[in-house]
Amino acid sequence: MSSIFHLEVGSDRLATLTFDSPDHKVNVFTRAALTELESVIQDLGGRQDIDALILLSGKPGSFIAGADLEEISRVTDPTEAEAGSRIGHRLFSAWESLPFPTVAAIRGVCLGGGTEISLASTWRVASDSAATRIGLPEVRLGILPGWGGSTRLPRLIGIAEALDLILTGKTVAGRKALKLGLIDALIPDARFLDHVRDFARERAGRPRKEEGGLDIKEMLLEKNPLGRKVLFDQARKKTLQETRGHYPAPLRAIEVVRIGIEDGPRAGFDAEARALAELATSRISKNLVHVFRMTEDAKRETGLPGGEPKEIRAAAVLGAGTMGGGIAQLIANETGVPVRMKDINTDALAAGMSHASGLYDRLVKRYRLTAPEARRKMALVHPTLDFSGFARADIVVEAVVERMDIKQQVFAETAQHVPEDCVLASNTSSLSIEGIGAKTPRPERVVGMHFFNPVHKMPLVEVIAAEGSAPWAVNTVFDFTRKLGKTPVLVKDTPGFLVNRLLMFYSSEAMWLLNEGYRIEDLDRAMTDWGMPVGPMVLSDEVGIDVANKVAHILLEAFGDRMAIPAWLDRLPENKRLGVKNQSGFYRYENRERKEPDPAVYTLLGLHPRVENPDPGLIADRMVLPMVNEAARCLEEEVVRSAAELDLALIFGTGFPPWRGGLCRWADQEGLGRIIATLERFESAVAERFRPSDALRATAEAGGFYARFSR
Ligand code: NAD
Repeated sequence: MSSIFHLEVGSDRLATLTFDSPDHKVNVFTRAALTELESVIQDLGGRQDIDALILLSGKPGSFIAGADLEEISRVTDPTEAEAGSRIGHRLFSAWESLPFPTVAAIRGVCLGGGTEISLASTWRVASDSAATRIGLPEVRLGILPGWGGSTRLPRLIGIAEALDLILTGKTVAGRKALKLGLIDALIPDARFLDHVRDFARERAGRPRKEEGGLDIKEMLLEKNPLGRKVLFDQARKKTLQETRGHYPAPLRAIEVVRIGIEDGPRAGFDAEARALAELATSRISKNLVHVFRMTEDAKRETGLPGGEPKEIRAAAVLGAGTMGGGIAQLIANETGVPVRMKDINTDALAAGMSHASGLYDRLVKRYRLTAPEARRKMALVHPTLDFSGFARADIVVEAVVERMDIKQQVFAETAQHVPEDCVLASNTSSLSIEGIGAKTPRPERVVGMHFFNPVHKMPLVEVIAAEGSAPWAVNTVFDFTRKLGKTPVLVKDTPGFLVNRLLMFYSSEAMWLLNEGYRIEDLDRAMTDWGMPVGPMVLSDEVGIDVANKVAHILLEAFGDRMAIPAWLDRLPENKRLGVKNQSGFYRYENRERKEPDPAVYTLLGLHPRVENPDPGLIADRMVLPMVNEAARCLEEEVVRSAAELDLALIFGTGFPPWRGGLCRWADQEGLGRIIATLERFESAVAERFRPSDALRATAEAGGFYARFSR
């Protein structure tokens, strides 16, 4: 008796094979599942009583999630990784050669190995429900589709479309999959199985269809060697531009796809196996799998012990500025809950509404929503200049100007208009949550909910628990953050919270380097080469030099000399150099587009750029090691609960390179001994602020960040 796959053959000679792994919430191809599937296929090969077979999932809401991540993360031997790939090839080729047509009936999430077995099926159909997402996300784990996907997909939907899916790892909904030719039919979710049966019955006993549905234009390009060369060259160029060469998997995937197309499937499978042997055992893949795991763990995290989160049925946002408009749109879009958006200024309110509706337009353009759906959701956002509708609010998210006196007053006033158990959340990036709630009746419901800009893109929310915040209120924000599709990380109410505190050590060191005669562009290039999404000077311009300066002063006051900043820094905002927002920063701007560094900055600050041929490794150490030093302090002070949560917060909040696995993981891999020695060298050669913290020394003695700070 099989325990993972269940075969039923009807009197109408229609068979169903149901994948239902008893040990997992979703179906994954574990070793056990593969072994069992192999014997199922062997048995099927000899059956005379089947005209067609439907592959189904026994899990509601998902089809097959892919290979077993545990096994991928454990493999360190390239030979073993290669063998793992070849097992998949053998199995799916046998599946492809069954003597009757097979129909992969996709309902819900279908990823990696799930998509690959579908590609080896004769037909693919998918439910039209919103839960259906089909894709090959392997590159996101630093590997590539290695069970035939890299070879079969381009043959089915064309090279250009296949590369688009394989190189981005994105998933597509049923409608898009049909358009691509990735599936043969879109099936109404209601009475899904009946429809699939009809589909299979119609095709039972019919010969396999001919491959490929490319149109003439595509054929001309993809079937001729020159056209193909252009396609692959473009893909390589684009990938190098986007990854800056930090991610080897997409580049390998392009090569593997090319081999599969030009030298045939057998050569393609061979190339897949060889590439997987290298990629799956690389440090980059291990780090990406680590990040994926942390993300999954974060989904299960709860906030503080002992407090039930409250259900949110109505929400309100205070302030319709840069952040408020985005937050209101997010709430309406993700939770379907009505949102009041209040401002004191009519123009700001109109701008906030237009910001929100612009975000909806983008979703419609990208087929994420239909126009009527977007209109319905937009109608959930109600602009207001007074507190009307606040009496029903379960949560208020405040995003007004960053001033303690104003926030205190706004909170105290809001409390008069909302129910007693309405959670009052502040999006402040630098002010104390306890301070903000100091004049509010029942301050235990005041919690920090720190989004990052732009709200619709950045996946992190720091949930800040003040000393007096009630667990139920903190957990409500935690839970609500997750419902918004964001990752909450619980942090303490300390200056700069977690992410801005660490980032300030990085940014202010960039200012010191500028002071020493380094050039703006050299600093930025060194850090983007290191893997940061933007360099420190571009970051200052984007955040706003005035805003960054304000936070720097708050941290300087809190942490003293180790957070020192050059005295000239104030001169920038004083001279109206604010960054992108007023088109004048470290760089020049034209129509908000960044041009070259502005030499007037050096003159204004009395600096003389003079460092020729700067050492990018030295620059990176100067900026990253102070963050490591401070990270140890944050963990010791319990600003954040674990090294993994710190790493995730920095990746999701700043774009710290995921392929490095996170700041603490990078430091552990680099060796804390080397880091401490370098900091000591900087301490004596540059300035005292580099002195390794006691927290860092203790962490080194304990065997590293992950050894000391795991939960
Ligand atoms: P913003 O200046 O763009 O918007 C603030 C809005 O608040 C303005 O429209 C203003 O009219 C309105 N406002 C002022 N007083 C009000 C009141 N009493 N009631 C209702 N509305 C009022 O500011 P922003 O960039 O959206 O920042 C808002 C908050 O979010 C700040 O606390 C800031 O620190 C924080 N934050 C900003 C960013 C960012 O990158 N911009 C990122 C994270 C957090």
